[in-house]
Amino acid sequence: MENRMLLGKTVIDGFVICETGLHIGASKENMEIGAIDAPVVRDPVTREPYIPGSSFKGKLRTLLEKALSPSEPKLLKKRNIGTDKNPVKIHVCDNSNEATSCKLCRLFGSTAGRAEGSDNFPSRLIVRDLYLTPESVERLSDIDTGLQYTEWKFENAIDRVTSAANPRQIERVPRGAEFKLEVIYNIEDLEHLETDLKNLKLAFELLELDALGGHGSRGYGKISFKIEKIEAMSIDYIKDKSKIAGHVVCKSLDETEIMRINSLFNTSKM
Ligand SMILES: [Zn+2]
Repeated sequence: MENRMLLGKTVIDGFVICETGLHIGASKENMEIGAIDAPVVRDPVTREPYIPGSSFKGKLRTLLEKALSPSEPKLLKKRNIGTDKNPVKIHVCDNSNEATSCKLCRLFGSTAGRAEGSDNFPSRLIVRDLYLTPESVERLSDIDTGLQYTEWKFENAIDRVTSAANPRQIERVPRGAEFKLEVIYNIEDLEHLETDLKNLKLAFELLELDALGGHGSRGYGKISFKIEKIEAMSIDYIKDKSKIAGHVVCKSLDETEIMRINSLFNTSKM
């Protein structure tokens, strides 16, 4: 078992903006009878559509895995997290020792493999569920689609065997909707700090060039990030906020800003 330390936190605050309609599907159990064919996931209390942090994080992980694979051959070692019939193969390190030196698993976490001595490596990243901003809730309350805060669109899928048309109603969050983003990166190893933050930035950029949720090939799920602030804090600062030296506020994850975070920790030596 790894001896893990917590040296500080980096809190990334901002927004995710839907540039096109967004569909993050609800599971079958949550479907309402007589409802739309493919509903979006909603908060059970407020009924507002939201983006589960786990979906968001999973997408970032998948994109970063593909992008790092050419230079990190160990990422080609995959595990089937699906079933035999529907295999889903992703890279996951088998134990915490391997994960510590793995650029993907140390950010996104890994679960133990079947071999003796395998153990989990909890993720250094925490991605909160993303909720609509109050402004978006207000704006979407006014739209008249017969649905709460959303729109629906017919998509005509063709059955590959019978060639029969199979029109389905897909529910989506309209373009222009904004969700609040909060991502926390736990600082555990100063040698990894710069690389981890650069890889997180890369994952954000890759997501802007990909699609979130379902039906990306039909144009759904284009999003953009609006980063408001990034605050790095040492544990001493979190304990006693009067220690101004223990934190730094940045505007982006650009290289110069990452270096400011790095120097905060590497000069103060905690
Ligand atoms: Zn790994």
